[in-house]
Parts: sequence; C-alpha cells; structure tokens
Amino acid sequence: MVHSLIDDLIRDVPDFPKKGIVFKDITPILADAKAMALIYEALAAPYVNLEQPVSKVLGIESRGFIFGTPLAHRLGAGFVPVRKPGKLPWKTVSESYALEYGEDTIELHEDAVTPGERVVIVDDLLATGGTLSAAVRLARRLGAEVVGCSVLVELGFLGGRKRLEAVEIHSLINYEE
Ligand code: AMP
Repeated sequence: MVHSLIDDLIRDVPDFPKKGIVFKDITPILADAKAMALIYEALAAPYVNLEQPVSKVLGIESRGFIFGTPLAHRLGAGFVPVRKPGKLPWKTVSESYALEYGEDTIELHEDAVTPGERVVIVDDLLATGGTLSAAVRLARRLGAEVVGCSVLVELGFLGGRKRLEAVEIHSLINYEE
C-alpha cells in the first residue's frame, strides 16, 4: 500500500543535479496529505512498542528533517538535526565521507545526544550509504545506541546497505535496478 503510493508519487528527474543521475523527486509525496499520513505511520512502525523506547530521532539535512520531526513526535522522542558544515551554532562533532568526486561532511551538536541514548536516524533516501554511515558514526561517537536507520526510498542497486552492516535499515520502497 505505502509501497505503491510512494512509487506512484515519486518523480524521476533524469540528469539532475548532474548528468547521469536520476533524481528521485519526493515533492509530489509531500503535497499528498493521505500519502504523508500513511508514510508517517509506516516509518514509525518498527519503533513503536519497543520494550526500550527510542529517545531521539536524528534527521539528516534537509529532507530528513521533514520525516524525522513527525517521527520523533509519534515516538515521544526528541528531534536532533544533523547538518551540513557551518550551520549548527554550538560546538559540533563532524564526520566526512567520500562522494563520487571529493568528499562531504555532516555535523551534530556535541551535546545533542548523551551516552546510552537509543536513537533512530532518518533520511529521505539511501543511495551509496555514505551519508547514513557518517551519521551512524557521529551518533556512536557521542555514545548513542543506533536502534535503526529509516528511509522512504532505497536505491538497492547501489548497495548502500552493505556500508551499514551493523545497523538495521528500514526502507519503505527499494528499487533493485
Ligand atoms: P548517499 O550518501 O549516497 O546514500 O546519498 C544519500 C543522500 O543524497 C540523501 O540525503 C539523498 O537525499 C541524496 N540523494 C542521493 N542520490 C539521490 C537521488 N538519486 N535522488 C534524490 N536524492 C538523492
């Protein structure tokens, strides 16, 4: 149900932001109230009724904010933004990861998560896994236990899941080719 809704509402944009990339545009999903309500429930499903609850949801800039905030609300957890460099005002910890050309960095406030906290990390899409694995390293550096990572869309053919072996990954739709 959620699977086919997402599939119907995702717009493939070839050669964006550069040649050879098929960009998965999720803005038609955001504009559909019914789809969003179902997606929020589906994202929360693996984490509701856990014996040991999740206390923080980490959302990755910027589309991870859109899905992470309502997920945090649904789980009765706090929300923590994971941001691009230079955006967070307080003291940060940072992790870099390789891109096809060059590298990128993400940051987290050093007091955003306390040791032993159980956290979930959210983004819109898992491609090569570089972003999510850097976020997992950040959370673990602060002593958090990463209960899982959740995304709407997984580009399974890119094998990003393999970079995240010691973490449970939940995706609402997986494109294998
Ligand atoms: P990666 O680090 O390769 O797993 O890339 C994941 C991040 O890049 C996510 O924050 C996505 O929003 C974005 N991203 C990567 N590839 C795509 C794509 N084909 N369509 C839309 N967003 C993408």
